[in-house]
Amino acid sequence: MTFHPPTLLLCSVLAMAMSAGLMTLFAFSQRIYRGYFHWTAAQALAALGLGLHLLRDTHPAVLPVANLLVLQWPVLLLAGLRRFYQRKEMTLPAAFDWALLVGGYLLWLSTWISQADLMWRIAAFSFAAGALALYTAALLVRLDGYATSAGLKTLSVALFVSCGMHVWRMVHSVIVRHDPDSAQVLLLAGAVIPVMLSLVMVYLALLLTYERTQHDLGESQRQLRELANIDMLTQVPNRRHFHELAGRLLASPGAAHGASLLMFDIDHFKGINDRFGHKAGDEALCDVARSLRDTLRVGDVAGRIGGDEFVVVLPHTTVEEAVAVASRIVDPLASRPQMPLGLSFGVVRVEAGESVDAALHRADQALYEAKRQGRSCAVIATGDNENPVFAESMPLGLMPM
Ligand code: GH3
Ligand code: MG
Repeated sequence: MTFHPPTLLLCSVLAMAMSAGLMTLFAFSQRIYRGYFHWTAAQALAALGLGLHLLRDTHPAVLPVANLLVLQWPVLLLAGLRRFYQRKEMTLPAAFDWALLVGGYLLWLSTWISQADLMWRIAAFSFAAGALALYTAALLVRLDGYATSAGLKTLSVALFVSCGMHVWRMVHSVIVRHDPDSAQVLLLAGAVIPVMLSLVMVYLALLLTYERTQHDLGESQRQLRELANIDMLTQVPNRRHFHELAGRLLASPGAAHGASLLMFDIDHFKGINDRFGHKAGDEALCDVARSLRDTLRVGDVAGRIGGDEFVVVLPHTTVEEAVAVASRIVDPLASRPQMPLGLSFGVVRVEAGESVDAALHRADQALYEAKRQGRSCAVIATGDNENPVFAESMPLGLMPM
């Protein structure tokens, strides 16, 4: 089978031009990211370069321009990837990409200017194109996130294959010179490589765009979940999320060993707002939340369940140990330089099988009792909802305000 060179070349040009057109259409109908138009430009320019090969006999300057346009493909692809992954560092700076392109192009240009044998010119061009493909593939493999991106993997494989084909073309042109069959094979390889790469480019552009969209979607979902679950002022779980977390914790088999629940509230918080302003009140709430976070262990569950009201479930903790935890929460707040804060605590032991709401109800009664007994103290409640028994209040190192 013999190939008609201009027809073969025309097919390559059409395939590349169509892929550039498809990518452009996609860009106008979908959300795209930085670097996308570099890929489209790489395709369009390479298609133009191949097209100019059909006209290379019309003017001596056509061939050098055509070959430069074909060789730029991997470098413009890299420029697009550098913009697409703007937060990830590539191993080598962009100047290396362009220097390699210039070096490879000058190598071919020197064989053309010196009017070297056609096969040497093909070999020089293949060497430059193969080196650029290998360099681009090597940079991609070292890119952070390569292991998880199907798009990058496919592209690097295609680049390694195209590098292999260029090497084979180079060796073939040097070893089997002036053989008509060999010239046909070289011709075919010269047409197949750009078609293969242009198809991979379309796949890559769509896949990377899809991967980025998926990533952004996941990030938005995470932010939405956080907005729905976390109290924005104090960064502590809100009432609804606390219920979820505490319910899950108490339902776990380990929690049967005994958990305590602490409910606490800032003393005279309205007065702080009135005297020092709402902003100072917000800062006080943040300090309480900070002290809470600093005190808790992994596995404890906390929440802000009202204006100045917080609650904590402490698994595997007796009520006496829970009062010690309360004291640790209070310590940094009592010695606050701006204005010391007092907290009152209601403490209960969560009974086996008891619901979060029932334990909260009993802790609320104990907290009410702590307020009644003069504030800045912890009251332990035993007994049931109807007949709570309050232990003597334990002061937490604060002078009642
Ligand atoms: P008590 O010692 O009995 O707890 O008295 P209190 O003044 O602290 O009374 P209470 O706990 O009922 O007051 C809660 C106040 O918290 C009422 C409200 O103005 C204030 N508050 C609620 N949410 C916020 C908030 O997000 N920021 C600020 N600065 N204040 C809030
Ligand atoms: Mg209060």
